[in-house]
Amino acid sequence: MSNAEVKKILLVEDEKTIRDAVAAYLEREGYWVRGVGDGQSALEEFEKHTFDMIILDLMLPKLSGERVCRAVRDTSDVPIIMLTAKGEVEDRIIGLELGADDYLIKPFSPRELVARVRALLRRAHAAEEPQPEVFDFGRLVIDISGHKVTVDGKEVDLTASEFKLLITLARYPGRVYTRMELVEKVLGYDFEGYERTIDSHVKNLRAKLGDDPKNPIWLYTVHGVGYRFEVPAEDQAYVEAQKKAKQNA
Ligand code: CA
Repeated sequence: MSNAEVKKILLVEDEKTIRDAVAAYLEREGYWVRGVGDGQSALEEFEKHTFDMIILDLMLPKLSGERVCRAVRDTSDVPIIMLTAKGEVEDRIIGLELGADDYLIKPFSPRELVARVRALLRRAHAAEEPQPEVFDFGRLVIDISGHKVTVDGKEVDLTASEFKLLITLARYPGRVYTRMELVEKVLGYDFEGYERTIDSHVKNLRAKLGDDPKNPIWLYTVHGVGYRFEVPAEDQAYVEAQKKAKQNA
């Protein structure tokens, strides 16, 4: 998958005005878009063509976005952005747990959608490359093979679960993880009822990193859903420069 290649997006949205507007905006940004208006057509298109991403409305005629997402995930790890109505927190959780990579709440601005599409495609591309052994975020450095975390040059003593939680979140900055996903990835359980354990680990991790939940540096709470990791604005240029230096090495 080369960066120069035109990325193909399957857009599934039954409201024609939204579908047309979003398609026009994405096309202007250089993406190739195939728009369909129901879940059945979405699966048919998906079987016929190769797409780099699916933008999927949750409420759809014929076959719901939930069922489309499930069917796609049976055979493919193509990035999926779920579109949900405002305030439907449960729907967002369902979307992420079905394997959607991100979600956007209606009404959204086309600019925001394009930003999410770009970020997600970049992440999908990065996932195909070998993972680095050290995540250097400037102030925060995570040495995965050395099992060492430093903040401002000082080593932070983390438990195995806290360390795993941190690298899970930090591997894809900006990606939202539900508590249930984190339970599976960090604790290795796959049953419900342990979501609150993740809250305790996040609390301890924050305390050790000196990260204040009310004014977060790295670890953000996504209310009603879970958590995400962000690179602080002042460290972003540094992180980008590191990445470029590595690519040119
Ligand atoms: Ca709809």
